[in-house]
Amino acid sequence: MMKTHLDGRWCSNAGSGLRPALFLWLVIAVAIFLSRPGLAAPHQHGESRIAMAVDGQVLTLELTAPGEDVLGFEHAPKSAAQKNRYRETMILLQSASDMFELDEKAACSPVRTRVLEEIASIDHDHGEFHIRYEYQCQKPDLLQRMKVLTFDRFSGMQRVKVIFLRPNGPLQRVLDRDNTIADFR
Ligand SMILES: [Zn+2]
Repeated sequence: MMKTHLDGRWCSNAGSGLRPALFLWLVIAVAIFLSRPGLAAPHQHGESRIAMAVDGQVLTLELTAPGEDVLGFEHAPKSAAQKNRYRETMILLQSASDMFELDEKAACSPVRTRVLEEIASIDHDHGEFHIRYEYQCQKPDLLQRMKVLTFDRFSGMQRVKVIFLRPNGPLQRVLDRDNTIADFR
């Protein structure tokens, strides 16, 4: 079972670090994917995003979700109830197997999770969560579908936009509560 931390460091130590080339590619692609005109709000409530890419046998997947959708609030937790909810949510968010179900044929195992951004570290309204998941896949070419389990976990999540950055061009899928499987074929 994967170990989790709340402090943003890499969890577990399996595998090598993210390769610089892929990392740069992901950062640029995610920046483009996430950018939108009018930055009054950094996100749209009800809408989360997933950017994913394969490099060799490493699958990297980044989830960006509004605090409102996963927690019901977007500021650092204040009351005891909010702190509890926040703690439980952070543990859940860092458990890759609770968030995504990947194509069995690709034989992917989660190796680590990193919290890139979370609401307690933000001092403005519209805090969001930004989590990176890394998998080791034996047959990444066979990754043809992914079930997003987040709708079951977070009642405020209405829509998830998925972009799969593949060498032969990006694929985009839009999922909702009635359609939780991204088919990449
Ligand atoms: Zn917001």
